[in-house]
Amino acid sequence: MPTAKALYQQLTTPNNRRPLARAITLLESTRPEDRRLADELLDLALENSTTRKTTRLGVSGTPGVGKSTFVENFGLELIEAGHRLAVLAVDPTSSLSGGSILGDKTRMEKLSHHPKAFIRPSPNAGHLGGVTAATRGAILLCEAAGYDYVIVETVGVGQAEWRVHGMTDAFLLLAQPAAGDDLQSIKRGILELADHIVVNKADRLPKEAKQTALQLRQGLHLAPPRPDDWIVKVTTISALTGQGLPELRERLARYMAQSEKSLHPRDATASPDSIVERRRKGQILDWLKERCEQRLHADFENFLREKSRTTDGLQRIIDERTTLSAATDVLLAEFTQTKKKT
Ligand code: GDP
Repeated sequence: MPTAKALYQQLTTPNNRRPLARAITLLESTRPEDRRLADELLDLALENSTTRKTTRLGVSGTPGVGKSTFVENFGLELIEAGHRLAVLAVDPTSSLSGGSILGDKTRMEKLSHHPKAFIRPSPNAGHLGGVTAATRGAILLCEAAGYDYVIVETVGVGQAEWRVHGMTDAFLLLAQPAAGDDLQSIKRGILELADHIVVNKADRLPKEAKQTALQLRQGLHLAPPRPDDWIVKVTTISALTGQGLPELRERLARYMAQSEKSLHPRDATASPDSIVERRRKGQILDWLKERCEQRLHADFENFLREKSRTTDGLQRIIDERTTLSAATDVLLAEFTQTKKKT
């Protein structure tokens, strides 16, 4: 097994996608020795992360809205503008279907063959928490490997949008041109996550796209004001023909530029973080909490498994206590005790 330092060095060698792919596989692994190595790699990536200027863009929309088509053509647009692009997916449905939103790479044929792009489908194993933890790490590793623009794609189902919003700098929502006033497909609250909204397929349904954009703008007026004063716009695009994509790239760049401005903290002794820095620090805190929760959860599962294997432990605790809350206290006290011993 190579050391984390050696892996990190390979990973940061320009134009070398294979070590990056292997490192991300380590992140997704459940084997303890892989996880240890992955953690060391992440520590190295985190140590060096502050010197890099990168953009992390979350992209979401319901199935069929045109996400793959968008990522393919917007990705090529970004590369044309000088970026190196990594595309990651968070797909809460993949563990059910066995597939994943980016599993079918032929949908991004040009991008997946481009030397300046790296595409990684959603990990297949596990629950959303595990998938998002692996993706948080994968973002850092992609940046360490020199990809300065990372797109995290997700489908508009479940909690995935919130998770992706919580690990990116900017969030883009793709909407369908809807006939009439049917915007039900966009869940409440999701509009408020977006830093920009695009209505896709404007080539085929120009009138409907304009109409939908108008309705979305009206919907946005109801949203609470943003602390960063950013004005969320709704534009119409065609992911297929590329219409509106250069303007979108510029708009997102402007958003990043505004987020990179320093804040002026009231406390003059504190260092003046930019909005991006502050947001990313908050995201690392969230990550820390998620990791603790996951580890506690796994340890508790092990404890329970052990308990039901060695004795009739659980049943005994319930039999001996009169109330559920008393039994809960006893069980947790025993768990804490075993944790202290390890
Ligand atoms: P996803 O499920 O959100 O990834 O959607 P896809 O990218 O697979 O697109 C679903 C369908 O919509 C495909 O048949 C695409 O060719 C089509 N599509 C996507 N974007 C556009 C667009 O801008 N214009 C038109 N006319 N069709 C589009």
